Amino acid sequence: MTDNADVIIVGAGLIGLSIAYHLASKGISNVIVIDKEGVWGHGSSGRSAGGVRLEFSHPSAVKFSQYGLEMFRHFEDIFGISSSFNACGYLFLTRDASKWTVMQNLSLMQQALGVPVKCLSPQEVASQFSYVQMEGLVGGTFCADDGIADPGAVLYGFARRAIDLGVTIRLDEQVTGILMNHNHIAGVKTTKGIVLGGVVVNAAGPYAATVGQMAGVEIPVRPYRRSIYVTTPFSKLPQTIPMTLELETTSYLRREGDSILLGMSDPHEPSSYHTDVDHQTLEKLIDTILRWVPNLAEASIMRGWAGLYEVSPDDTAIIGEVPEIPGFYMANGFSGHGFMHSPATGRVIAELIMGEEPFVDLTPFALARFNADRPTPETFVI
Ligand SMILES: Cc1cc2nc3c(=O)[nH]c(=O)nc-3n(C[C@H](O)[C@H](O)[C@H](O)COP(=O)(O)OP(=O)(O)OC[C@H]3O[C@@H](n4cnc5c(N)ncnc54)[C@H](O)[C@@H]3O)c2cc1C
Repeated sequence: MTDNADVIIVGAGLIGLSIAYHLASKGISNVIVIDKEGVWGHGSSGRSAGGVRLEFSHPSAVKFSQYGLEMFRHFEDIFGISSSFNACGYLFLTRDASKWTVMQNLSLMQQALGVPVKCLSPQEVASQFSYVQMEGLVGGTFCADDGIADPGAVLYGFARRAIDLGVTIRLDEQVTGILMNHNHIAGVKTTKGIVLGGVVVNAAGPYAATVGQMAGVEIPVRPYRRSIYVTTPFSKLPQTIPMTLELETTSYLRREGDSILLGMSDPHEPSSYHTDVDHQTLEKLIDTILRWVPNLAEASIMRGWAGLYEVSPDDTAIIGEVPEIPGFYMANGFSGHGFMHSPATGRVIAELIMGEEPFVDLTPFALARFNADRPTPETFVI
């Protein structure tokens, strides 16, 4: 079977489907999205915690979040389905004085971009968020505009509208090779045939490096398991709390209905494609989070799930056309931020493909940054 498409997108997750929607809404609808799984969003997109926040280290990343937040707020007007955005806020805490200095400096940049982030002293944290243990705390930032949305609804909205605008989504079909004509993209080979086309977008999430290799490009993105746990209904914390995170330990909590959702990354866990729930990290998480939210001692874990972060060396995405291979675009390495950045990524990739100036400076996302001096890593990572 041989088909033709103006744009071929590898991956029907939030990123691939946002790109498909943005392309189609600009009039490019001969787009084929291909996914190896039998449903949309089977990868990381179906495992996301739904966090949306404006605090990032690079102005471009802040602008990405602003575009995403605005879209999630008005999602129903555009897509006919609500994103269920809940502005519960984000509270980042630190017990490290040098990190606190960095956070305060970054908050000035964020405020200059219109982010209503506030720097709080330990006393202010304690008076506003009494469930947080103050011992050792040096400060925190709170942004009331941030919150939680529903990744499943957003994925559905992108997919449904893309299909309505003429995009084809092909499932149960794996891309196994990228066809080249000299150094130019000529299409893809799949388990079901060939699709010819001069533009291929790598939106393969944790498999970004594998798809990059098919075109001879090294994309430094590796998969890491991240587990999430949910307690039984729990009333010993306020019913309304922000997404609350301790930066040093990456431990965090937020409300999930009447329950509490918890998570933490384990820096010692090696890269893998495992997606079974990790019980060792749960033990470390309980030890860690009880130190700063002692009330949780009375909570019981009810369920959990795990998925893969697609992590770049500086925890910042890799977005753009590969300069040596015209027609090959990367939208990879979101390092835990791919839900909130999916709307803006779709927009900028569509703009690049159409030869337009991207609405945000993409320099911090360039693959070439890894060839130059060590890029500044993202501070706000969990
Ligand atoms: C536990 C967890 C919590 C998270 N919480 C948040 C959060 O709070 N906020 C936030 O912004 N982000 C969060 N994220 C990150 C976010 O979910 C991801 O960054 C985002 O979903 C990435 O989307 P994607 O489309 O790039 O990848 P995916 O959803 O993984 O999609 C990639 C698709 O490519 C397909 N594919 C791969 N290789 C091939 C091939 N060769 N041929 C065909 N198809 C292929 C896969 O089957 C997959 O469907 C979280 C992630 C996890 C795991």
